[in-house]
Amino acid sequence: GDGVTADMIDEMARKHWPLCMRNLHDTLRKERHLKHYGRLQYGLFLKVIGLSIEEAIVFWRKAFGNITDDKFSKEYKYNIRHSYGLEGRRHNYPAKSCQMILTTNQPGVSESHGCPYRHFSPDNLEAALLSTYGSQGFTRNDLPEIMSDVKSSHYHVACTRVFEITHGIKKGEGIGGGESVTHPNQYTARSRELEK
Ligand code: SF4
Repeated sequence: GDGVTADMIDEMARKHWPLCMRNLHDTLRKERHLKHYGRLQYGLFLKVIGLSIEEAIVFWRKAFGNITDDKFSKEYKYNIRHSYGLEGRRHNYPAKSCQMILTTNQPGVSESHGCPYRHFSPDNLEAALLSTYGSQGFTRNDLPEIMSDVKSSHYHVACTRVFEITHGIKKGEGIGGGESVTHPNQYTARSRELEK
């Protein structure tokens, strides 16, 4: 990893997470819980960001503040260690790509994983974009273009355009050299690079 600690995550989320991960992060903070596929999608993303296994355990233990240590150890710790390849088959699972997130394990009504561009209703997506990115220069005027991409099922195009708007980048530049968003970790890596 590159020295990311649990207490850095809130600020990094505000600056650098794509909407799927902001949704998971904000839901975790609001509800002090995430369902299985949400923990999996967010946990693997955080691993690739550079959160060590020790820091991941600190992060999730604090996030689920309302449960006992015993329950945490029994029900969650094993799965966190498993996703770091430290239990079971010891497979070091990669973080999910946009393609995987868009096409597998479709979220049910009370679940927060998935891609908001695809899985939110139009009203909820508009509200989420304004509240999430309003402080990063995203305005109501940007909505029609995004919603039109979404309507034609070009979710990664919508996500890429939001990246451009919130990073003050010219349309068509994408996440660099005209490239589109294909992975949440790629979105975040590029966002962090631009900050340097
Ligand atoms: Fe996340 Fe990819 Fe959807 Fe963007 S397009 S919100 S990075 S799943």
